[in-house]
Amino acid sequence: MSDGHVVIVGAGQGGLQAAMSLRQEGHAGPVTLIGAEDGLPYQRPPLSKDYLKTGQAEKLVLRPAGFFDRKAIDLRTGIKVDAVDRAAKRVRMGDETLAFDTLILATGTRNLIPPIAGISRALGLRTLADAQRLRGSLTRPRRVAVIGGGFIGLEFAAVARSFGHEVHIAEAAPRLMSRVVSPEMSARFRAKHEALGTRLHLGNGVIEVTEIGVVLANGMEIVADLVLLAAGVRPNTELAEAAGLTVDNGVVVDPFLRTADPHIYALGDCCAFSDSRSGIMVRLESVQAATDHARAIARTIVNGHQAPYAAVPWFWSDQADWKLQIAGLAVPGATSVTIGEDTVLRFSADRLSAVETINNPKVHMKARKLLAQETVPTYSDLAARNFDLAMF
Ligand SMILES: Cc1cc2nc3c(=O)[nH]c(=O)nc-3n(C[C@H](O)[C@H](O)[C@H](O)COP(=O)(O)OP(=O)(O)OC[C@H]3O[C@@H](n4cnc5c(N)ncnc54)[C@H](O)[C@@H]3O)c2cc1C
Repeated sequence: MSDGHVVIVGAGQGGLQAAMSLRQEGHAGPVTLIGAEDGLPYQRPPLSKDYLKTGQAEKLVLRPAGFFDRKAIDLRTGIKVDAVDRAAKRVRMGDETLAFDTLILATGTRNLIPPIAGISRALGLRTLADAQRLRGSLTRPRRVAVIGGGFIGLEFAAVARSFGHEVHIAEAAPRLMSRVVSPEMSARFRAKHEALGTRLHLGNGVIEVTEIGVVLANGMEIVADLVLLAAGVRPNTELAEAAGLTVDNGVVVDPFLRTADPHIYALGDCCAFSDSRSGIMVRLESVQAATDHARAIARTIVNGHQAPYAAVPWFWSDQADWKLQIAGLAVPGATSVTIGEDTVLRFSADRLSAVETINNPKVHMKARKLLAQETVPTYSDLAARNFDLAMF
């Protein structure tokens, strides 16, 4: 049984899960969970969805205060870790230092601020405080401009439209969610958002945020009294970098989610790891990755290195009455097969690598099972069964 002091930096979705999983796995030593944000750990996904409609912040809290006492997890919030001293195995917060036996970096991401003139006039959507500010400004008629046609921008736009606001989305790439979904799925969502009444400006990024709105690359001016910045994120890797750990679009970890320092792990949005199927280094921004990483790290800390991390990635996004679900990971150059109105299968090197669905949880769950198998179906396997996943 492990009994050393585990310090977790970052009390978000992954940091909290790491603390809980350590206790579930039987870790007997002290666990300290340090978070820069105030308040109890909370979930972010509803911030761009239900929370904007209901304003019920209490529903976001992942565990009540009493839980931390019961599980002997020392939760310290509103405290930023400033430095990691690897030689002394200590973290520093202001004047205080804290010794660790094992350190878990769960520092997440922050909004990417593109070099656009006047960008400080735009609001972000990353924290509960951001969402509270945005929600407050959606209570009266608004002309909204969204910078970025990714998940968060689109989810926010759908909510803003449901309130009756005028909404424009400017996206520099030629299609929506281009980093993460197939061109076929992008096209479906383009039609959906246009049908909702959102004005899309694709291949036409914002070059300036002015006092009265935004200016697009083609010179078009859009009058807006609320501008949302949703142009992606950057991993919070400064602590790791200053401590001499390798950083390359995330804190680089091995198949056990461990950095080059055997006493330091990294998880979730802030870490870059090798996808066990494709072998490529990835950094995922999803609840699944953060929580599955956390569970795997806790198992390793308590039981030693047994199995490398190999969970199938999955993700969801709610946009109006459509739930997009993605199982697996499509690597660049993946080919697509569209099934009916709601499913796109993606293939890499002739093997199924990802499945995108709209409002089809049955196919999504089946895809997760198939992708978790040691031998994943090939294009010909699927073609022989009319691309019907239920036939497997
Ligand atoms: C609006 C929004 C909607 C989303 N929707 C979805 C969705 O539908 N589906 C999905 O799968 N994912 C969604 N995500 C992504 C998901 O929330 C993240 O992938 C997940 O929260 C990552 O967990 P994490 O623990 O890695 O990081 P976070 O949950 O971001 O936690 C990191 C924490 O570390 C703290 N921190 C950073 N540096 C320090 C430091 N030096 N000292 C102390 N604390 C520090 C930060 O303040 C933060 O609280 C959404 C995210 C946002 C913002």
